[in-house]
Amino acid sequence: MALVNEHYLKLPGSYLFSDIAKKINTFKVTHPGKQLIRLGIGDVTRPLPQACIEAMHKAVDEMAHEETFHGYGPEQGYDFLIEAILKNDFAPRGISFSPTEIFINDGAKSDTGNIGEILRWDNSMGVTDPIYPVYIDSNVMCGRAGELGPDGKWSNVTYLPCTAENHFIPQLPDRRVDIIYLCYPNNPTGTTLTKAELKRWVDYALENDTLIFFDAAYEAYIREPDVPHSIYEIKGAKRCAIEFHSYSKTAGFTGVRCGYTVVPKEVTAFKLDGDERVPLNPLWNRRQCTKFNGTSYITQRGAEAIYSPEGKAQVRATIDYYMENARIMREGLQAAGFHVFGGVNAPYIWLQTPDGTGSWRFFEQLLYEVNVVGTPGVGFGPSGEGFLRLTAFGKREDCIEAMRRIKGWA
Ligand SMILES: *Cc1c(COP(=O)(O)O)cnc(C)c1O
Repeated sequence: MALVNEHYLKLPGSYLFSDIAKKINTFKVTHPGKQLIRLGIGDVTRPLPQACIEAMHKAVDEMAHEETFHGYGPEQGYDFLIEAILKNDFAPRGISFSPTEIFINDGAKSDTGNIGEILRWDNSMGVTDPIYPVYIDSNVMCGRAGELGPDGKWSNVTYLPCTAENHFIPQLPDRRVDIIYLCYPNNPTGTTLTKAELKRWVDYALENDTLIFFDAAYEAYIREPDVPHSIYEIKGAKRCAIEFHSYSKTAGFTGVRCGYTVVPKEVTAFKLDGDERVPLNPLWNRRQCTKFNGTSYITQRGAEAIYSPEGKAQVRATIDYYMENARIMREGLQAAGFHVFGGVNAPYIWLQTPDGTGSWRFFEQLLYEVNVVGTPGVGFGPSGEGFLRLTAFGKREDCIEAMRRIKGWA
């Protein structure tokens, strides 16, 4: 008789996007002919940079000939891509890594979800709230998150509220935690931390032997100078942080699947008996070699092209497009009298609902009264109540039209 992993049964099911889909369907049936504008989507819409397309075409052709065919590649990724990462993402910021500290992945979701495997199940953990749901759900699955309480919080998770009151800058935990997840620029709030603010976290981690999982998926959207692109810009972070990168939001790779994870040689965790420090890099390498057979050659050639001069210019143009959408939305909403956050260093606008209206109620008002779709903030965690997330990943004309409707309505 096979027994299930009962921790899976604790997961309440991800109803957020299916609930939204149901409400949209109901609306469509009862309001045929109305033009909906979807600003809730978390997926990019612009096509891949031409440089990536060309590189991938070339790689496909290589696969057609015995002399240039590629079978299994290194589980850690090809050197050509790792070298491009070291040279372009880190060296210009004064950060150096050896190639064995970079692990090419098939997107940041896999690795942020899997990284907890190399740590004991009974570590304590902290997350900023609201947050990308993968961090919590993947910990529920191995029992680390504990039990779900009536307040929507897991018993072994320390929630660090990010609200308008604290300007979305989380307070350090009031107890020690073993693992902390940080995501900056943040999904869903679109806010960031300055170098000084992130330094507080690195210092806390070093003092408390806390491990930081830093999700840098939106690093390419940073526009302001004082915002760190990598946690390793902070001194000491190599001893306490693992960082996740993704080409999904940077270069439209959501359907292609590629990113990378940095596991510095210096980062360690303890054994239960005694205070021996165990380096995590060899553990993650072992995990990858056993359970992951590498990202496809074609994909990695596509990713490499992001770092070519043409690729860089094309990526910049796409990000500029989304960030212009963000500006239009942010300024349009402000002009209509709303309080909005984010949208400066991230493609997300975090809209505070007027008069304390609940997230879901405001979602429906927007849907029924102006036919605009957002994502209820409470879906990202308890502190998201009273907010709505809008994304800048849509079409320009849709953003403009949505603002026109909202202006006439609010
Ligand atoms: C979109 C996103 C990712 C990237 O996921 P991929 O698996 O690389 O597509 C990672 N973290 C956050 C917070 C995201 O929003």
